[in-house]
Amino acid sequence: MSEKYDYCIIGAGAAGLSCAIAAASNGNSVIVLEKNKKAGKKLYATGNGRCNLTNRYADTACYRSKGGGYLELLFNLCHGVDISEQVCGFMNALGILTTEIDGYVYPASFQASSVVWAMLDELKKLKVSIECEHEVNDIKQYGDLYRVHCGNEEYTAANVVLAAGSCAYPSLGGSRSGYGLAERLGLKVIEPEPVLTALKVGKQEHFELLKGVRARGRVDACDRSGRLLASEYGEVQFTEDTLSGIVCFNMASLKPDRIRICFFDRVPDRNAFISHADRTLIGVLNGYVNDRLAEYMVESYGLKRSTCCSDLSIKQIDAFVGHIAELEFHVTGTEGFDKAQAATGGISLDMIEPSSFAVKGRKGLYAVGELLDIDGKCGGYNLTFAILSGLKAGGGYHA
Ligand SMILES: Cc1cc2nc3c(=O)[nH]c(=O)nc-3n(C[C@H](O)[C@H](O)[C@H](O)COP(=O)(O)OP(=O)(O)OC[C@H]3O[C@@H](n4cnc5c(N)ncnc54)[C@H](O)[C@@H]3O)c2cc1C
Repeated sequence: MSEKYDYCIIGAGAAGLSCAIAAASNGNSVIVLEKNKKAGKKLYATGNGRCNLTNRYADTACYRSKGGGYLELLFNLCHGVDISEQVCGFMNALGILTTEIDGYVYPASFQASSVVWAMLDELKKLKVSIECEHEVNDIKQYGDLYRVHCGNEEYTAANVVLAAGSCAYPSLGGSRSGYGLAERLGLKVIEPEPVLTALKVGKQEHFELLKGVRARGRVDACDRSGRLLASEYGEVQFTEDTLSGIVCFNMASLKPDRIRICFFDRVPDRNAFISHADRTLIGVLNGYVNDRLAEYMVESYGLKRSTCCSDLSIKQIDAFVGHIAELEFHVTGTEGFDKAQAATGGISLDMIEPSSFAVKGRKGLYAVGELLDIDGKCGGYNLTFAILSGLKAGGGYHA
């Protein structure tokens, strides 16, 4: 006969670890089962290792649910007005101070590892066992109890929390495993799709000039007919064949056909070029933007790097200004699940009790974090949801 736990939590990510802390802080016996070699593998990688924990501007408008359901209700009921305060409060209770840059909140150390370590220390204090390299392959309900199977091992628990995350970023542990467990338990799963991933631009002439450039601008996502889908201001990062950075990540789910970017706070007018007739176009543009961006603007227009302002007529200068005012890139796709920070889709919100994250009509079964059909913008919103949903399912944290 296997040992009986009050809570068996499947997945040691942000949601599962938060849930384990809350459940154990309420006097429950808790076990966490994790398929990876170590707990919190994805959490370590968040925010480029800096862990963007939450965002001061977090509210329901920053979240989406592919299948609809009770998104607003879920979030309002569970987290009240200032949701970022709740994440910071929890972190502070674990001994992690937080710091903010333009609304983006990080641990004061700017190290994701400090968050993982603080959570693991708290779990140790609360005597929670975390069994790594334990992939759950089946869950069966027998009356008021659940039997959780990992290969030949079996764990019995009164409450089971599905915190297995999404299939985004498989090299950090993302897998479809949680969806399979949920479906076998009779839960509706909305087909996941990758979100928060870089936009591929394929082979575009002169694009290689931009590799490594990071520049801020107004970014417009448009459909095939040129209709504006979304517009955001922020930093764009260029790789060999992608556009990335927070604004581009946020636009991936819209599947844009093209991205138009204005890199100027003030677009140079014809006089900027006429008054510097002896200088090269690149030289003038470099007064406004990154030098490689300036080179790209000139070469992608079919001009030589050495072209001087005086080489162009006024009509030609006006046409050139029109070109640089808004650079257009054709989008051929996204980097997909391989490099997605999150997935849209997952367990349907219709099945979830908003106040507790319990599965409706299934006593003792809960689902939290990215496994649910809810995803947030880039900027701390997904960790916020993972942490707060985990705490809620564990009955709230009582330090
Ligand atoms: C590179 C990257 C950077 C990111 N940066 C940020 C950021 O800065 N801010 C932010 O808000 N969000 C960020 N995100 C998103 C955020 O990390 C996730 O939304 C969040 O970690 C989800 O937490 P989770 O606990 O629901 O899932 P996960 O963290 O994925 O945890 C689920 C765990 O369950 C385990 N598991 C799965 N199936 C089983 C099974 N059958 N048995 C046992 N264990 C199982 C997995 O191995 C995994 O450890 C980032 C994501 C990535 C990939």
